[in-house]
Parts: sequence; C-alpha cells; structure tokens
Amino acid sequence: MDLDTGTLRSLIVAAAEQIIASAPELTALDQAIGDGDHGINMKRGFEAVLGKIDAIAAQPLGEAINTVGKTLVMTVGGASGPLYGSFFMAVGKAIAAGRRLPEDLADVFASGVDAVSARGRSKAGEKTMLDVLVPVLETLRSDAGRPDLMVRVRTTASEAVERTAPMLATKGRASYLGQRSIGRIDPGARSSCVLVHAICTTLEAHL
Ligand code: ADP
Ligand code: MG
Repeated sequence: MDLDTGTLRSLIVAAAEQIIASAPELTALDQAIGDGDHGINMKRGFEAVLGKIDAIAAQPLGEAINTVGKTLVMTVGGASGPLYGSFFMAVGKAIAAGRRLPEDLADVFASGVDAVSARGRSKAGEKTMLDVLVPVLETLRSDAGRPDLMVRVRTTASEAVERTAPMLATKGRASYLGQRSIGRIDPGARSSCVLVHAICTTLEAHL
C-alpha cells in the first residue's frame, strides 16, 4: 500500500502546524543552552513548506518528501536546517528507490537517521535530535507489526526527550557550555519529538 495524496498532505500539514505551535517552546529551550533561534528557524522552514503545499502534494511521495527536505535546507538555517533537510531528503530518496509506506517505515526512517548522523558527524548520546530519532527507530524495529506501534513510538519519543536533560552536550552550540549544558532538555530533541508525534497521530488516523 502507498500513502495517498490526502494522507501525505495531512502528514505535512500536521507536522508543520505542530512545529509552528511549538516554536515559542523550542526557542525557550534554545535560549537556555543555545542561541535562542531554534523555534524561529523551524517555524520559518515549515511555513515555507506550507507555502508550497499544493505543489508538494502533487508530486509522487518520494519526490514530495525530498522537496520538503530541500525546502528546509534552504529556509531553516542554523545547524538544524541541513540536518532536518538531510533527514527528509534521505527519506524521500528511500521511497523513490522503491521502499513502501507504511510497510517499510522502519527502513525508511533509518535512511533519515543515517543521513543526520553522517551530516552531523554525530550519534546518540551527544544530546541532540539523534537522542530522539535513534530510540524511535529502535521502537519502529522492535515493535513493528504491533497494533499499538504508533502509541509506543510516541511514548518512546516523549521519554527520550526527557533523557536528554542529564546528558552532556558534545555536538552543536550547546557543547560550548560544557557542564552547564547538563540539566536542560535539548531543543532539537524536542522538535524531533514534536515531528514524530504529529506524524504518528496522522498515520494512526489515516491508515
Ligand atoms: P544552531 O545550533 O545553529 O543555532 P538550531 O538552534 O536551529 O541551530 O538547532 C539546534 C539543534 O540542532 C540542537 O538542539 C541539536 O538537537 C541539533 N544539532 C546541532 N548539532 C548537531 C549535530 N552535529 N548532530 C545532530 N544534531 C545536532
Ligand atoms: Mg540555535
């Protein structure tokens, strides 16, 4: 089965609306351990995506998600723009290469996670978005086929965000703070959680 155009549009709109609604929170988190622009960056990027939603939704699924990624690279800026851009471009390419949704969701998601890791030269445990994306991938794999998979993925993402608080940041701007990065959750981990929740909730409603 392939995602239909209506589901694709709903996914993108839900992701964008949730990120835009979370922008003040994301910015506040980034004020604590970064430079206070994460919410502004992400909002700008997803507003640009929403501005092209008709053109995006008219494309085949893989190309559409690739266009989302390219748009984020061009508009988000900061460290997170190229990272989220790489995620969505890799996901789009995996789908264009023949992976199917929702059957191959874990493999498709893995392509995105690998792209972030390669672009950021980063891995889980460094207090970044990967501390949500990697646990989510693990749950997608371990719990594949369960009827409550989307619920479990959402729980994984929420719990993973909280686990970034005691971590020491060793990548990105928060790493400049050294030990003072400890005690706050990572802004990019939180935005990844927002995206994962929006996508899971939409998939649950449409599949
Ligand atoms: P900037 O740090 O340039 O101001 P943002 O504030 O938009 O960019 O994004 C910061 C987020 O990007 C961090 O909270 C972190 O999750 C993520 N990030 C930064 N560097 C890396 C990296 N090398 N690998 C993975 N994620 C990273
Ligand atoms: Mg920032």
